[in-house]
Amino acid sequence: MENIKAQLKLLNGTTLDCYTKESSTPDPKRNVIIYIARMPDEDHYIIEDATYGNQTTIHKSLISDNHLELKEGYFLAPQSLAHTWFEDFHKARIKKQQKQESLLFINNILNFYAHKDLIYSDSRYFLIPLPDSLTSGMAYLGEIPLTLGMLLELWDTEPATIDSHSDCDGKVLIIYFAGSPLSGSHAWSGICSKCNKRIKGHKEHFPSLWVPVGTYAKLYSNYLHYAHATVQELVEKLANN
Ligand SMILES: [Zn+2]
Repeated sequence: MENIKAQLKLLNGTTLDCYTKESSTPDPKRNVIIYIARMPDEDHYIIEDATYGNQTTIHKSLISDNHLELKEGYFLAPQSLAHTWFEDFHKARIKKQQKQESLLFINNILNFYAHKDLIYSDSRYFLIPLPDSLTSGMAYLGEIPLTLGMLLELWDTEPATIDSHSDCDGKVLIIYFAGSPLSGSHAWSGICSKCNKRIKGHKEHFPSLWVPVGTYAKLYSNYLHYAHATVQELVEKLANN
């Protein structure tokens, strides 16, 4: 496959090729179409991006200031400039996507665990990051970046990441934890592999959880910037298998 940049060695001995990420930064040479939706007054245009249909208001002078050529009802603008004008929409879209990915991740985590062989066979699945909104409560240990594959490996190899709950005899798989190594106050959150319930709990001694996880996470710290699939792509792959 193209763009192989590194090899990732898993705990089970498998070696996976890692791929470079495609750049998502706007291309300054690429122009995009922007429509003039309305002219609310003499000085302003309400413009609309052709891809998403989002609208925003700009001062007319920005057209000439940026040396853009106004055509019949539209103009072409560099992608980077369009990004600036529609940045709020872009951020809102990303936030919505992240929320959806987070839900999809949680709803499918046991499905992922059941198909861990697939995730252990492709770095793009192994390196899917844990959704931000899942880990945002991690006040002190939020700096331990985990990926889907790492989570599955931890459950397979680190007993501290498995716990129990009183409602049934299933194993609770810890998905994230938050706390202070200084005070020891902490909590973990996980999912029961038998009854599928979301469970919260805490360890008797916090270091028994964060020390092994922190040590383990260092194994992969050099690989986190390589290309990864989205949660949606993995869910679709499993549905079509
Ligand atoms: Zn249970």
